[in-house]
Amino acid sequence: MRQITQLIIHCSASAWGNAAVIRDWHVNGNGWDDIGYHYVIPNGRTAARADYDPAWDGIDHRRVALSVEGAHARGQNHDSIGICLIGEGDGLFTPRQITTLTGLVDVMCTAFQVPPTRVFGHRDYDRGKSCPGFDVAAWVRGG
Ligand SMILES: [Zn+2]
Repeated sequence: MRQITQLIIHCSASAWGNAAVIRDWHVNGNGWDDIGYHYVIPNGRTAARADYDPAWDGIDHRRVALSVEGAHARGQNHDSIGICLIGEGDGLFTPRQITTLTGLVDVMCTAFQVPPTRVFGHRDYDRGKSCPGFDVAAWVRGG
C-alpha cells in the first residue's frame, strides 16, 4: 500500500453523473487508463434527463483501488485519496452527499492516520479552480 497523507475533495462541476459517467469522461474523453478519483458520491441524478433517484443519492462508490495512485490533483496524487461529489458546489450538494462525505472522511482519516488538517479541497492546490465549490478546511472544522 502506498502511503496516504491527505484527502482531496472535488466536485464534478456537472449537475448529474456517477462513477461510470465520470469514468467515461476520463477514459474516453481524456484518454486516461481509468477514472481519476477513488470515490464518487452521486446526487441522485445520473444522467442529464434522468429523474431524481434516491437510490443514487449519497451512495459512496469506490472505483479505483486505494493502492492505485489517482489522477485528480497535479503534484498531489502520489500520497492522496481523491473524492468527487457530483454537483457544482455552493450548497448544491444534497444532505445525503454531505452525510456520506463526512462518514467517508472520518473512515479514511482513521484508517490512514490522516489528521483533519490534511483534508483539502482541490482549489487549495490550484487557485485557478473553484473545485469543490466550498471551503473544505472550514467544513472540516465545523464538523
Ligand atoms: Zn477538482
